[in-house]
Amino acid sequence: MKIMVAVKRVVDYAVKIRVKPDKTGLETHNVKMSMNPFCEIALEEALRIKESGLALEVVAVSMGPAQCVDTLRTGLAMGADRGIHVEATGALYPLSVAKLLKALVEVENPGLLILGKQAIDDDCNQTGQMVAGLLGWPQGTFASKVVLDKENQVATVDREVDGGLETLSLDLPAVITTDLRLNQPRYATLPNIMKAKSKVIKKLTPQELKVEIRSDLEVVQVTEPPKRKAGVIVSSVDELIDKLKNEAHVI
Ligand code: AMP
Repeated sequence: MKIMVAVKRVVDYAVKIRVKPDKTGLETHNVKMSMNPFCEIALEEALRIKESGLALEVVAVSMGPAQCVDTLRTGLAMGADRGIHVEATGALYPLSVAKLLKALVEVENPGLLILGKQAIDDDCNQTGQMVAGLLGWPQGTFASKVVLDKENQVATVDREVDGGLETLSLDLPAVITTDLRLNQPRYATLPNIMKAKSKVIKKLTPQELKVEIRSDLEVVQVTEPPKRKAGVIVSSVDELIDKLKNEAHVI
């Protein structure tokens, strides 16, 4: 079985996000970019499945500008066998990414498509659900545990839901999106970084995949959250209660 993993290039999680002065989006110029953390978890899970002998190949795919190749190289250094880059400039919304993924699935025929549950830049949490819908495949989202039964072609997925865990059984092929507690992604070792340089990254365009990139939605503006007002130190419990009652009106 082949596993396809979608890895997105995003602003590094440790960078303090800045909104562009014209409020059209986030500043990405001269900002450190990395693989989306949930995509690292997705790739780690695919590699563990392969290492346990249940898959033969892990293919990492990324859509976006030329620099996505760096993200794919990171994925190859972690252990993916090859990469596919769909070069697309301009804004890519989840539906367009889902359509591109569907087209890639039709070319590659993976038994499992694993994505992050959400990208930390847009926080959409939509792509996995959309591609599962477009493919007509079962989906296990927010997975915190995945067990594959190769013989019966079934994946058992534990999902983190409000107040507990839900366990699903999915017929393969299926779409899985990863939650934080699924695994701890590995670091790429120096020898693997060197090896990754000779692994293949195929380049495709949306046109070659017969996908038109357009969106029915438009981001009107992006703004920073309002600055928090400075707090006050109260001198007694009575003063606190008075403020909560008469100023904050919460009790
Ligand atoms: P989102 O729906 O935007 O929150 O993204 C959820 C997941 O979809 C990500 O964690 C990735 O696995 C995948 N994804 C979204 N956009 C891209 C992209 N441009 N390239 C590759 N994977 C993507």
